[in-house]
Amino acid sequence: MTNQTEKTSETEINEIDTLNAICRQAKAEGKLSGKNLTGLYDLFGQRFTKALEALKENRVKKYTFRPSNRVVWIVVGRERDYLIMAEADFCTCDDFYFRVLDKKIHLCYHLLAQKIARNLGWFAPIDENDELYECLMNEWKKATT
Ligand SMILES: [Zn+2]
Repeated sequence: MTNQTEKTSETEINEIDTLNAICRQAKAEGKLSGKNLTGLYDLFGQRFTKALEALKENRVKKYTFRPSNRVVWIVVGRERDYLIMAEADFCTCDDFYFRVLDKKIHLCYHLLAQKIARNLGWFAPIDENDELYECLMNEWKKATT
């Protein structure tokens, strides 16, 4: 890749918009093309490397609670599990808490991994009984500082 300076009307790259656009394309193609991999790396750097690692190691879990069909996404981290509220773009990690809320970064690597996982089906589906919902949620939320 050479240094190409493209003139864009946007002064600021919106991480979420770009990610969503790439996810849509990846979903249609059923994979991440080389161009999209490069694009994600350019945009997210280390965060993308870590997200990809989580995806490859199958650490993104989608819990579906029955019979209510409530869905909870979890990214299994090195030290603990991270609870993700996909609809709210919310994550329970420190990275999210300190930096995303501070507007320094928009997405932590867990959210990045979850969005890619959802679009490409790269997650482990887990069915649980509703009776375990409260108990598991308490467990996941407890890890939050
Ligand atoms: Zn996170």
